[in-house]
Amino acid sequence: MALPTVAIVGRPNVGKSTIFNRIVGERVSIVEDEPGVTRDRIYGTGEWLTNQFHVIDTGGIDIGDAPFLDEIRQQAEIAIEEADVIIFIVNGREGVTSADEEVAKILFRSKKPVVLAVNKVDNPEMRADIYEFYSLGFGDPFPISGSHGLGLGDMLDEAVRQFPENKGELYEDDVVKFCLIGRPNVGKSSLVNALLGEDRVIVSSVAGTTRDAIDSAYRYNGQDYVIIDTAGMRKKGKVYEKTEKYSVLRALKAIERSDVVLVVLDGEEGIREQDKRIAGYAHDAGRAIIVVVNKWDAVEKDDKTMKKFEQDIRDQFQFLDYAPIVFLSAKTRQRLGTLLPAIQTVSENHSMRVQSSILNEVILDAVSMNPAPSDKGRKLKVYYATQVAVKPPAFVVFVNEPELMHFSYERFLQNTIRQAFTFEGTPLKIIARKRK
Ligand code: GDP
Ligand code: GDP
Repeated sequence: MALPTVAIVGRPNVGKSTIFNRIVGERVSIVEDEPGVTRDRIYGTGEWLTNQFHVIDTGGIDIGDAPFLDEIRQQAEIAIEEADVIIFIVNGREGVTSADEEVAKILFRSKKPVVLAVNKVDNPEMRADIYEFYSLGFGDPFPISGSHGLGLGDMLDEAVRQFPENKGELYEDDVVKFCLIGRPNVGKSSLVNALLGEDRVIVSSVAGTTRDAIDSAYRYNGQDYVIIDTAGMRKKGKVYEKTEKYSVLRALKAIERSDVVLVVLDGEEGIREQDKRIAGYAHDAGRAIIVVVNKWDAVEKDDKTMKKFEQDIRDQFQFLDYAPIVFLSAKTRQRLGTLLPAIQTVSENHSMRVQSSILNEVILDAVSMNPAPSDKGRKLKVYYATQVAVKPPAFVVFVNEPELMHFSYERFLQNTIRQAFTFEGTPLKIIARKRK
């Protein structure tokens, strides 16, 4: 199998070749005969833990007489073209520059995994300088020092984690993957079959299917989906695999691989403890969640039954207050048509990004209307907020003292964000950081 490729990207003088040399050591191929290549140390192989990979120093690729910005733009394009993972290097001593933002924009559009490394952080005191780089939108930046060899291990850990084979992922990033979890006999298999049999659903076969689940791909409304079905597997499996332990493990693995989790309940039987445990895991894993109440055909109803069931769910699954609830029947296909649009909506919300300017307006307004209560004479001050990740959406809130951010105030900020933006179906993360 071909080795994965890591490309190092960034504007000139941030330390790309220093880091490249650290990673490849002596394992450098000389490619001086290649046209357009001025530096000879561009391609190499690196090794981290048990992973071997190719490394490209895009800074060494000479684009000719192109103006400065064009040159770094083209280097970024090459990285995107060639790489499985991109290490984006910025300079912690200079802060975010417009050239960094330009590179970020190009990398962002590519949807390739990007590991953001802030170089020239030569000592621990300088670590506070990395926070402004959150605004580039690639999540937690890794502080490193190429010349001192610091922090490279953590950075490479993350790069290796993003290798396609380590992600265990068969699908493109824009495919929405979802699974159905729930106790045996709530109707998961019936639901999978019903969904795949829906009008307008175009089912295609999936090349590689894992040992733990049967994947079914389909297209609906212009979007590609994959159902990760562990229940169907259990039915085909051997007796020992039908035991509780295996089905829980399978459910956990399916959740790991999914963007959206359908927590399936049996409308006839109501809510059980076991339902809550697995739903809790989906919540902790940061997946988008829909609660599906199946077998609604078999429930004796009056005009209050649905409201009452809904209230039960809200009471017993308080941590899932953001999850929409869908009542349906896999058997009669009643309301089945509401499930596909719901999956589409929550998966969009799960990967939604909001603009920093609007986010800040909303947060700062809310904070001024409802300041944090003081704690032993000290008061939390909120300076600004920025969204740093999706799936699930995560927000860094810069404050005077992160310890002063209490659970209830974090909750308040979450609710503020939910009221202003449509994040239905997805958990949100708030991370308090000290403003330097
Ligand atoms: P490139 O143009 O991005 O490939 O950057 P280089 O690797 O050529 O480095 C540019 C300059 O930054 C050189 O003078 C390096 O010695 C210096 N440099 C690289 N890494 C570090 C670092 O971690 N700390 C400090 N203080 N300087 C560094
Ligand atoms: P799984 O173990 O969660 O995959 O559940 P199955 O799909 O195997 O369904 C368990 C039982 O519930 C089967 O006897 C199904 O026929 C029945 N069932 C599934 N969905 C419905 C439904 O919507 N209404 C009714 N009345 N029965 C259903």
